[in-house]
Amino acid sequence: MRPSSLFWPETSRASRDIWRKIWIPRGGASPCSPARPRDYSSPSLCPCPPENSLALSPFPHLFSLIRFADLYQTYAVVVANSRQACLYLVSEGRPEKQISLFWEDKHTTRFGRMGWSLPKFQRHIQEHIKQRAKETVENLGKMIPFRKAEFLFTVAEEGMEAEMKKQLPSSLKKKQVPLLSLDTHDPDHKILSGAFEALQKISREKAEALARHILEEAQPMGRATTGPEPTLSALQNHQVERLVFDGRFQAHGWRCSKCGFLGMGGLPAACPLCQEKALSAELREDIVLKAHAQGVALFFTENFIPLVKAGGVGALLKFKISSGTRKQFTR
Ligand SMILES: [Zn+2]
Repeated sequence: MRPSSLFWPETSRASRDIWRKIWIPRGGASPCSPARPRDYSSPSLCPCPPENSLALSPFPHLFSLIRFADLYQTYAVVVANSRQACLYLVSEGRPEKQISLFWEDKHTTRFGRMGWSLPKFQRHIQEHIKQRAKETVENLGKMIPFRKAEFLFTVAEEGMEAEMKKQLPSSLKKKQVPLLSLDTHDPDHKILSGAFEALQKISREKAEALARHILEEAQPMGRATTGPEPTLSALQNHQVERLVFDGRFQAHGWRCSKCGFLGMGGLPAACPLCQEKALSAELREDIVLKAHAQGVALFFTENFIPLVKAGGVGALLKFKISSGTRKQFTR
């Protein structure tokens, strides 16, 4: 099927924006990873590859990629104990920069406490930890402008953790997530995998919390919709603020061959808007593209049963609309 000239520009623009968001590296040269144009023919790291599937469509399929867009956010990982610290910057799914700091162990000498009283010796050690935490945070600031990091994952010894927390600017304090199951002596790959799993968990929990909120709001006649038909209707009325899909979402319906209007259920004799021919279609991709083109925030759950049972999709609306007004908009 050839898409209409009206429908194609909207989808291709949205596709290009999504690709740019997911794949094209941000500008700004760095010593470790200079800005470079992406070669689309070369293999790219995909930390969470989409499932294999074969489907034909007049436009690029993006649902299986955009649902992992959260995993391409920029974040920092800090591993620190009183002897050394390692800082990583992860951007677009790959470690982009790394800084290692090592400190000499000046305070535990063969002379024990160096003849000092215990409180004095403890104050001395505390001062060292404070200095090292300060140095770690300063280097973190050099590696990445704080506002650019979406998360700061930390694996640190108790003393360093507390001191770093004091030194961090307030913008980054809110983004700090301690990785409690990891140890500062764990190898790099284990630390980075742990941070990635934490990112996945945060993204999934955010989507599930939104889905739960939508399910509560949607009944009865609240500021939300669940299921493909009411959600699509709200989307086409430009009512949707946030949209949550489950990874298993599928929607069968129809698409107008001229104006691109979408509908669920049986194929009508003609499009209710322009009276042109309507064609049977899988609407999952159309819904994602339409939402993205409207600037709607998208969230994805993975096999979240309450949402799957409600039709696999739900939307939080910008405003409540009465059934009378809804009829007037949807015709
Ligand atoms: Zn039409």
